[in-house]
Amino acid sequence: AAKRARLGTSVYEPGLDQHSAAQLTVISDLRRAIDHGELVLHYQPKADLRTGTVCGAEVLCRWQHPRLGLLGPDRFIPAAEETGLIEPLTQYVLDHALEQCRTWHAGGWDVPISVNVGAQCLQDPTFPDQVERLLKDHGRPPDVLTLEITESAIIADPHRATDVLTRLRELGVRLSIDDFGTGYSSIAYLRTMPVHEMKIDRSFTTNMRSDSSSGAITRSLLGLAHNLELEVVAEGVEDEETWTALAALGCDIVQGYCLSKPLPADEFAVWLRNRMLD
Ligand code: C2E
Ligand code: CA
Ligand code: CA
Ligand code: CA
Repeated sequence: AAKRARLGTSVYEPGLDQHSAAQLTVISDLRRAIDHGELVLHYQPKADLRTGTVCGAEVLCRWQHPRLGLLGPDRFIPAAEETGLIEPLTQYVLDHALEQCRTWHAGGWDVPISVNVGAQCLQDPTFPDQVERLLKDHGRPPDVLTLEITESAIIADPHRATDVLTRLRELGVRLSIDDFGTGYSSIAYLRTMPVHEMKIDRSFTTNMRSDSSSGAITRSLLGLAHNLELEVVAEGVEDEETWTALAALGCDIVQGYCLSKPLPADEFAVWLRNRMLD
């Protein structure tokens, strides 16, 4: 609350360091960025680990800032979460990504997409209706969309989050738990959460071959997820050795630089075409 009050004031405070001052500009600009279409979506492919077939893409947001250049999400998502702008931002991302899906569909490509959803959306009882409307507006079936949520978004208010997630699931949207194992853990919630998929955080997968505890955690998470009949996506897979090691553990899907980094839509389309020609 103290933070919010300070962000709300326009008076210069000598106590603000340069970073905070820059952060203030970012926040006041973000509303305009959403209204003026300055947010850019990049798409990172995911592939079936056994066949190598591309099975979807995660949508990752960047901000083409008029003065500061291309900003990564770490520069503005936390601020958006703190100021309530995450809801209009999520709407923007869903709207533009589903429109992209429609374009690809018209061209003969059905690419399922995964969109990151912030904590506040899971506390908003109107969120499922918004998602339903956006799917209808863009003429896409609900199963093209996976919503990625984090443990911390659930823990904020598990009861309300469960209600919202249940309605999303009833809509036919897929649900994924992101960054699993990095939050204040909540294995207990896995039993009651109506999710389809678990994403293993890259802090575990990236080091799994060099660091035995990361390897052990990855193995345990895979076992846990599979026992609960969840599909498992390993993120941050950077090399072929890790891919092979994950395949040996029975992991389902991979995402990471070994396939491709996140790409703008047009480059993603080129990447996909080249891959299908291989
Ligand atoms: P995330 O959901 O865990 O996304 C994965 C991040 O890992 C992305 O960073 C991606 O570029 C990066 N990554 C993917 N493969 C590799 C790899 O092989 N190696 C390494 N070192 N990194 C890899 P990015 O794009 O900077 O996004 C950071 C975070 O920002 C995301 O983490 C997500 O939590 C958040 N974010 C991004 N877009 C959105 C959005 O539209 N809405 C919300 N609410 N959050 C978003
Ligand atoms: Ca994610
Ligand atoms: Ca993640
Ligand atoms: Ca992560």
